[in-house]
Amino acid sequence: MDQALQTQAIPTEALLQLLEGESIAAVAAKFLLDPHLLHTYLQERCSQLCKEFMPTPPLPVHDLAQAIDNIETFVFLKDHLGRYTYANRLACELFGLPLESIIGHTDSDFFSEDTVDEIYKNDHQVLKQGKTIQGEEALTDKHTGAHRYYLTIKIPLYDEQGNVRGLCGISTDITERKQTENSLRSSQELLSTVVDNIGACVYMKSRDGRYLYVNNAMAELMQKQPAQLIGHKDNEYFENEVSQKLAENDAYVFDKQERLEVLETIQTLDKDTPRYYWSVKVPLLGKNNKAYALLGISTDITERKRLEDQLRHLATTDELTSLNNRRYFLQLSEQTLNRSRRYNEPFTLLMCDIDFFKHINDTFGHATGDLVLQKVAEIIKSSLRETDIAGRIGGEEFAIILVQTPILNRGYEVAERLRQAIESTIIVLEDGQEVPLTISIGAVEPVYPHETLPTLLQRADQLLYKAKRNGRNQVC
Ligand code: GH3
Ligand code: MG
Ligand code: MG
Repeated sequence: MDQALQTQAIPTEALLQLLEGESIAAVAAKFLLDPHLLHTYLQERCSQLCKEFMPTPPLPVHDLAQAIDNIETFVFLKDHLGRYTYANRLACELFGLPLESIIGHTDSDFFSEDTVDEIYKNDHQVLKQGKTIQGEEALTDKHTGAHRYYLTIKIPLYDEQGNVRGLCGISTDITERKQTENSLRSSQELLSTVVDNIGACVYMKSRDGRYLYVNNAMAELMQKQPAQLIGHKDNEYFENEVSQKLAENDAYVFDKQERLEVLETIQTLDKDTPRYYWSVKVPLLGKNNKAYALLGISTDITERKRLEDQLRHLATTDELTSLNNRRYFLQLSEQTLNRSRRYNEPFTLLMCDIDFFKHINDTFGHATGDLVLQKVAEIIKSSLRETDIAGRIGGEEFAIILVQTPILNRGYEVAERLRQAIESTIIVLEDGQEVPLTISIGAVEPVYPHETLPTLLQRADQLLYKAKRNGRNQVC
């Protein structure tokens, strides 16, 4: 600033007159000051004062209105009765009307009655209670019937006395997002309903055997909540042998990247009876075509397996003696003959028939006959090795295969010992009567390669009848 016109150089009286509204020219003339310099001084001083007292320039309202018209958001104002006083361009487009036709109208003029009720309730909170509210609003267009969702914020506007004179609303259309969310939610609900009611264990495991997902059935098996299992491994819940076998099956799926169907035995650490599962395990392939996880569906088939075992037992076992029945004995004999022929191994087939059994039945009754049959079966079982095969193939006829046993020396010896064991068994009835019991045995060894099961059985039968003819209670 010019030295000649520093504040001190201007008389206070001159400044006061300027403030009172005297012109610069008049004051300059009165106090003998340079009007030009006085003007410059005042300009600079005013600008300094303006900066001090009005740090920000007033809002460029016009720019703001233009900006509001060009954003992809609905902006509107309503008065204290809910009548529109302003709507930005996007809002006008939504109503399909120019601003003049919107001002003074309420939502009832644009939206269906059932949807405006909710809006009025929201507006009421803002207009009567002065609350700022934010939330979702759903509106159905009165004319097109289009139903859309908005995320809206509504702010109260006050007059100078502090009374609410209206509201400002800012809304974003979230219909698409809402629809995507809804369809995602409903497909997730559908999926979890299926998965939790399928009656099977459904789970996802990572490559390192950690659970990524388990359904309720799986969590129940481990007696945990589903969330508690995430990140954990089988060996924390199952017997060592069980979890190793499960890991082998999982490794197959990951290594081969192939679906696996397998019977799995599961035994939890605190349960002593194993349960059986039919498991389907599918690799889940990532973008690089590498399995990042497996999806498993394991169905508890314990009951079915028990029934199957029971049926198999019934189908293969003789009810009275618990030996193999005729059909199953013949099946096992065929297998033994084929295997023995392949390895050129000997075995001995014994065909046994109780002597004078009709007489036992006639003298002591059918029940005693049954008892005798059970006793003979017991003696047969106790005189054989685990690997030998015995069956009741007729009323009182038994057949035995002594595997890997040549007839000479060994097979014949076993047969003779069996005959003796039966002969020396004394069955005493309740009334003190003793039941005589002897058996005749025909013993044969297959001749390779031509021997078939029928020829082998036939030769054994012939020898059995030879033993009968020769006086019974003997091995031929
Ligand atoms: P053999 O010394 O010649 O063998 O004389 P056997 O009396 O034993 O003659 P056979 O083999 O013909 O007799 C078989 C009898 O076995 C006939 C039948 O009544 C009886 N039988 C067959 N099945 C059963 C059964 O399940 N229980 C009982 N108690 N008897 C049976
Ligand atoms: Mg007979
Ligand atoms: Mg007989």
